Amino acid sequence: MNGAALADFVRRAAEVVTADADRLTRLDAAIGDGDHGLNLSRGFAAAVEALPEGAPPGKVLIAAGRAIVSKTGGASGPLYGTALRQAGKTMGDAEEVDAALLGAALRSALEAVQELGQAAEGDKTMVDALIPAVGAYQAALGRSESLAQCARAAAEGAEEGAEATVPMRARKGRASYLGERSTGHLDPGAASTVLVLHALAAVAA
Ligand code: ADP
Ligand code: MG
Ligand code: MG
Repeated sequence: MNGAALADFVRRAAEVVTADADRLTRLDAAIGDGDHGLNLSRGFAAAVEALPEGAPPGKVLIAAGRAIVSKTGGASGPLYGTALRQAGKTMGDAEEVDAALLGAALRSALEAVQELGQAAEGDKTMVDALIPAVGAYQAALGRSESLAQCARAAAEGAEEGAEATVPMRARKGRASYLGERSTGHLDPGAASTVLVLHALAAVAA
């Protein structure tokens, strides 16, 4: 994937989170404050505005991540922005991202999210979608699958991980204030992570 493809990914992510903003907001209304759809559609719209022309992949993601951090409210803005920025840093000056480099970028994005948010597996957050996404990506890479297949595996891994947040009790973020009442609901940040990784898979295909 070159810089133009990564810019397409950011645009596609903006489209899908905007198209699904109402659903994300409903999920957040159940266990949070009902702004996740708005936060992400605003954040990714700012990322699209900030996309540099003709830049390599790393620069594209760093610019997008920076825009999200500065324009998005809520817990998710800094987390998504940091994820994209870290992924961009991992890509460095590469003009072309191959399957191994995209895998390393995805893994580093997860690590940055965990470092910033201090969420562990099972805390009912976007981390619960990202961990199986990274695992599935690496497994596909180990089978020498193409970048497109690895990206698809990551999106599918995220989907399973997000589903698994339903019975979890939240231990991080606003939903944790609900204690036991946070169980039985899909985590909104895990749901949006699925959308964003499907956008990546679609552009990689
Ligand atoms: P806010 O909760 O501030 O209104 P959003 O509604 O935009 O922010 O985002 C909520 C989502 O952010 C949650 O569903 C969860 O996935 C994610 N989240 C919250 N806190 C953390 C954290 N510490 N680590 C990882 N993800 C988190
Ligand atoms: Mg919220
Ligand atoms: Mg909020």
